[in-house]
Amino acid sequence: MTDTAIAVTQTAAERFTELYLETCGCSVRTHEDKLVVDVPETASTALLEPGTTTLVCSADPERTGNDRALNPESETFQELLREATTHAPVGRVDLTETDTEIRLPDWLVESDVSVASTQFQPYYDRTAVAGLFQVGVETVSEYQTQLLRVAAIDTTSHTALPALADRLLGQTTPDSTPFEANPPTIDEDVVRTSLESLQEHVVEQVEPSITEIREGATRAAHAEQEEYRQLQDQRIDELETELSRVTEKIEECSEAAEAADEQTERLAKLQERKELKTERDELQADLQELREARSRGFPEKRQEINDRHSLHVTVEPLTVTEYQYEQGELELNVSNAGDKASIRIGYGNGVGITESLDCSRCETTLSSENPLRLHNDEICCTHCHPHTT
Ligand SMILES: [Zn+2]
Repeated sequence: MTDTAIAVTQTAAERFTELYLETCGCSVRTHEDKLVVDVPETASTALLEPGTTTLVCSADPERTGNDRALNPESETFQELLREATTHAPVGRVDLTETDTEIRLPDWLVESDVSVASTQFQPYYDRTAVAGLFQVGVETVSEYQTQLLRVAAIDTTSHTALPALADRLLGQTTPDSTPFEANPPTIDEDVVRTSLESLQEHVVEQVEPSITEIREGATRAAHAEQEEYRQLQDQRIDELETELSRVTEKIEECSEAAEAADEQTERLAKLQERKELKTERDELQADLQELREARSRGFPEKRQEINDRHSLHVTVEPLTVTEYQYEQGELELNVSNAGDKASIRIGYGNGVGITESLDCSRCETTLSSENPLRLHNDEICCTHCHPHTT
């Protein structure tokens, strides 16, 4: 399975810019390290003037010259993210006519099994919605990360369409046909409910990244709490030393007062003892307070540290694209070393397979990590049959 959660790298910034501008109705061509953007009058972006703009995919000012630079830190990219989060344009792409090339599933691409023939039989017209999301993870103190994530679902069944999501974030080649953005046909309610489902999918899918960041933040909070506890222990030691010193001096004063011959000297010692006793009471009160807080594990401080390290996760849609596609069945005739099989699986034109396939022995779902094997003309996984016989 491809991990489509990616930190904002150069490639992600380029791919995202292309998707966003296309959704806004622009047409984007890749030329060497440049994106050439044709912006029509009707484009729903205020970022670029109508006409043709060249974006140079580089952070090197010598290469960008007078053109706009496009890289994760560039002004253009940051403006684009800002516009996208406030705007989240909705576009439409029709996959049925332009996208007839069969997209083989990962578990077949990664397998030794060869494909003898493919046949796609379309049954119904369906609508998919893909959303590009910006996932922000931050803590009050310092940690912050940004992920871009694509998710796609069928609007009727709300099932995830990972092959379509992968395709949207995949690398484009210079000769790939640009998407033709069209006005959307789905109504706002469908967009809203689809977005909710998509956001749930996104949160579910970025969970491992969030867990990792959360664990890091928790470790940092624990280290800080431990440091605080050690400082307080040190403070308790200091107070105890100070207390025994004062107690000793009180004893000395009592003895001196008793042994004094002169009335004035005796009174002076008694006065000194009184002041020392006040000091001792204060020290005892401080010490008791600290020891109590320590036995309860410094709850206020712990809360304050935890709050400072707690995670704030946001999932913002950047673009929403409607895809019209044909849902049907794909027949795959596959063979390997004398074994052969015919597989029929749910498939959408331009969307890829819409169903998973299980190993007939262990019932594990086939994946790029555990691709297809054939054994006695049966569909198996690589774990069940690691070596082709
Ligand atoms: Zn198996």
